[in-house]
Parts: sequence; structure tokens; C-alpha cells
Amino acid sequence: MKNKIVRLKKYHQRLQHPWIFKREIAPNDSSAKPGDIVTVVDKDNSFVGRGYYNPNSLITVRILSFDNEEIDKSFFDKKIKAAHIKRQDLSGQTNAYRIVFSEADGLPGLIVDIYQDTVVFQVLTLGMEMQKNILVNSITDVIKPKYIYEKSDAFFRSQEKLPLIKKWQGNPGNNIIEIFEGQIKFYVDIENGHKTGFYLDQRKARLGLRDIVKGKRVLDLFCYSGGFALAAAVFGAESVHAIDIKQDWLDLAGKNAALNHVEKNIKFVKADAFPALEEMLQSGDKFDVIILDPPSFLRSKKAINQAVRGYEALNTFALKLLHNNGILCTFSCSHNMPNEMFSAMLKNAAKNAGKAFTILKRCHQAIDHPIIKEIPETEYLKGYFLKLT
Ligand code: SAH
Repeated sequence: MKNKIVRLKKYHQRLQHPWIFKREIAPNDSSAKPGDIVTVVDKDNSFVGRGYYNPNSLITVRILSFDNEEIDKSFFDKKIKAAHIKRQDLSGQTNAYRIVFSEADGLPGLIVDIYQDTVVFQVLTLGMEMQKNILVNSITDVIKPKYIYEKSDAFFRSQEKLPLIKKWQGNPGNNIIEIFEGQIKFYVDIENGHKTGFYLDQRKARLGLRDIVKGKRVLDLFCYSGGFALAAAVFGAESVHAIDIKQDWLDLAGKNAALNHVEKNIKFVKADAFPALEEMLQSGDKFDVIILDPPSFLRSKKAINQAVRGYEALNTFALKLLHNNGILCTFSCSHNMPNEMFSAMLKNAAKNAGKAFTILKRCHQAIDHPIIKEIPETEYLKGYFLKLT
């Protein structure tokens, strides 16, 4: 089948970034329908790339290939295979990792994660939705998982006018899956959990706790299913105090603690982190290590000032709650909060708290969520291990 043509207003060198915005496209120049695979050419009719089209999105084309190749089953097989091979080094360390990270793996709008024998995938855009049958076949043939679960429930889908979908593709497997990460085991709730079930992107920071928590008193705010709290306890923390606002996550975190035989070392508390911090401050409670990994306060660029104030308040509280020489592990998972803004906020928090720190470590998303220099949007998770001086 011949692809419809989308013509750009300008001449184009080879692109580095897969997004083509509405304003770059010559008006009334295509009979392509929303979701169609299109061939993008420049003003001179030279081939630019092949991708999928959605005139209802400001990002009107997302390029899938800069080469003149068909977008078919063998294309998706090739891309998924390449992404899978890139992650092979991880397979000894864990059986839960991201196989496809959207634009970073040349497959915009697609997330594919594996948890033990089960693949959980997310489709984010109309263009990818139209390829779903082929994608499921490619995942089956290339990755060969026992089960495939579709978790297309991301907020982003509503912007593409797509319904939210959560279902097994083929035979149903288990909603709760046991995984390992180094010596730590976790139950992951793929059906109800955040993202595809687990914060795979924090693996490196979690394992980094090994160097700093032995014999320490640790506080994990926003603990979710216990990722950091468990790591701290397994790596020898004397005690861990873990807080989350949602009982379901605390229940799962409690099961995870029992799975690793550290339930006696972790106290799980249901609370709103803000008043909880205030209370601890008043009661003179202090910690050696505090982990601050809140949800993204920043859904859009517009909300930036308010979000920065939220981060600053939390970090100020946390710095005040640390013993002398204590360590704050602090994160932001919002792409809209660039690192410069995050580190400026931390300096302000230190000033507010009347504390000074040195940087022990800078953290990024784990390597199965690669950062592509030419696609800045692929970098979103940032963090620091800060030591009070
Ligand atoms: N650090 C976790 C991920 C955090 S996700 C990990 O590595 O796995 C954010 C968590 O914050 C969610 O579990 C959510 O229930 C919780 N949360 C949201 N608002 C909160 C609040 N005001 N106080 C405490 N927890 C909150």
C-alpha cells in the first residue's frame, strides 16, 4: 500500500528528532487520515522519514524511520529485537526492566516492560494504537513472554482521544508478579499499580542505597510499594520509617517486606507527607538518611511555580529532619523541571533550613530508560544524594 505524503514547508537536512509539529507542515497538503502511516517529504520532495500522522495533535507526525523502509511487521520485529538486545546486560541483575522506551528506542508512543514471564505494554498515541495487532504479534515473536498484558491507561491517551484499556492479550496470567532486583524481591501489581506496575526507572538509585544505609535510621516518604524502603532494610538499615498516603500501596509494601524477611525493620505509616513531616519536626524526630521521591507535581509547564514551591517545602523539611552528616536522597521525575531548576530549588531549601550540603552522587533514570542527547524529552528523572556538612 502506498503511503500518503506529508510535505514540509521547508527544505530539510536529515532530522535528529522524531517530532514534526503542525506549524512545519505545508497547509492542505495531505489526504492522510488520523493515525495513518505517512511518508514525509520536504519542500523539494526529498524523503525525510516515515511515521504516523495525527492532525489533531500539535506533534502532527512522529517519525518511526528516517530510512526509506516499509513500516510493517518486520520493521517492528527489527526495532523490538534491537531494543531487547540492548538490555541483555540487565538480565543477570533483574528479571524486571524496560524493553522499549518510546522515542528513545525509535518507537514513539510505545512502552514495553517485562516482569518475569509477563510483558506489560502501554500504547500512548493513535498512530501506535493503529499498529497494535502487529505490535502484539511482534512482542510475542521477539520477546516470547508467557503472558502479555496491555496497560494503556496513561493520562496522555485522553489527549489523543483514545479510551483507557487494561486487559490481557491472549491467555491471562497473574496480576501480581514476583520479581527480583539483585538480592531484593518485590511483588508487582501490574493491574492496579502506577505506570506498568513498578518504578523500574529508580533501580540504580535504589541499589545505590547499599553504600549509605548500613546501621542507619532511614525515612522513606512517598514509599509506594516499598522500593526504597525495602532496599534500605535489605542493605542493613537499623530501622526504616516508610510513609504513603494510600493504604493499598502500604499493604503491598508490607507484603514485600515479609517477602524479604525484613518486616520487623520497617514501620509503614499511612499519612500525608506534608503534615507528617511537620509533626516529626515538632517532636524532634531525626533520621540519618531520608528518601524523598514524590509524585510528579508538574503535569504541565504552566504549573511550574507552584510545583517548585511544593518541592522546596518538602526538601526544606527533610533537610531539617536530618542528623548532622545525614544524607538526603531527593528526586524529581518531571521532564518539565530541568536539572538547573531542581538544583536551584535544592540550594533554596538548604538556605531555608539553615543547612549546607555536599553532593555525594547525582542520579539519573536507570539505563533501560536511555537518555538520547538529540531528544531532550527522554531525560526526565533526576536526583541527588546530598550529605549535610
Ligand atoms: N518512591 C516510590 C515511588 C513514589 S510514587 C518508588 O520508588 O517506588 C508516589 C507515591 O506518593 C504514591 O505511592 C502515592 O500514593 C504517594 N503520595 C501521593 N501524595 C502523597 C502525600 N501527600 N503524602 C504521602 N504520599 C503521597
